[in-house]
Amino acid sequence: MSLLVIGTVAFDAIETPFGKTDKIVGGAATFIALSASYFASKINLVSVVGDDFPTSAIEMMQKRNVNTSGLQIKQGEKTFFWSGRYHNDMNTRDTLDTQLNVLEGFDPIIPEAFQDCEFLMLGNLAPAVQMTVIDRLKIRPKLVVLDTMNFWMDIAMDELKALLKKVDVLTINDEEARQLSGEYSLVKAAQKILDMGPAYLIIKKGEHGALLFNRDQVFFAPALPLEEVFDPTGAGDSFAGGFIGYIAETRDISFDNLKRAVIFGSAMASFSVEKFGTERIQNLSQEEVDDRVQQFIDLVQFDISLVN
Ligand code: AMP
Repeated sequence: MSLLVIGTVAFDAIETPFGKTDKIVGGAATFIALSASYFASKINLVSVVGDDFPTSAIEMMQKRNVNTSGLQIKQGEKTFFWSGRYHNDMNTRDTLDTQLNVLEGFDPIIPEAFQDCEFLMLGNLAPAVQMTVIDRLKIRPKLVVLDTMNFWMDIAMDELKALLKKVDVLTINDEEARQLSGEYSLVKAAQKILDMGPAYLIIKKGEHGALLFNRDQVFFAPALPLEEVFDPTGAGDSFAGGFIGYIAETRDISFDNLKRAVIFGSAMASFSVEKFGTERIQNLSQEEVDDRVQQFIDLVQFDISLVN
């Protein structure tokens, strides 16, 4: 049984108040798969790139136990390209350019060997493509997690709403939760979004942590206060990778285990922002991951007695 990850494998160009990159390797599925690889032993990737995508980046993923046999390489076509600029708060950003390139007309073919998918992570991609992946799996996975973004809400809201009826967990950021629900209060937004289909909702709030909701419970995980945030790109995807990777490995979808998964996800996101692109999450040691999770435990642990 395994974890199937879909999403973009991309080139990104990033501007932050601290620096600027030319095209570097990024993409939602790249961050997710790398991050999940610290927890899950078997990760299958379905995505698409053009012939301009470096073989070394594919090999880097393979070294981390990611099966890339479902990564289509389209000859004569260009890889998906995204460029963004972060504001001074490093929490908000503007998309400067999105070139779908090879993503237009992407047909997500699922290799027969990937049909044993028990956990499905639908990383950021056109909702219609995400839906096709669900439809093509012969057996419904135990847990389907969906990530999306404002870009798709702007141009494919109807497809996204149809998709929400078919997933178990939705992960979005606070602005996107407001856009999707039309509510400013995140608590009201969460209730409206849960009415749209998913049993669980995770609202990511960047440096302010993340909230996990179901109908009658809410859990909060902080973000680690870091001295330096270098590049927030992929933080959400690294979060999703740690979250689903941990669940896939423990195979436990109780609310208590989802809470633990949120902490592992937050730990992976905290690494991701420390360097540009995927650099930080390519070569972590198990010890580094464990230490980071311990920092989260220490951060929120306190003894208290109620006054009455
Ligand atoms: P995050 O910072 O977690 O929201 O993810 C950023 C990653 O998402 C980048 O590496 C981009 O390549 C990728 N990305 C940006 N826009 C889109 C989009 N419209 N669809 C899919 N992936 C995208």
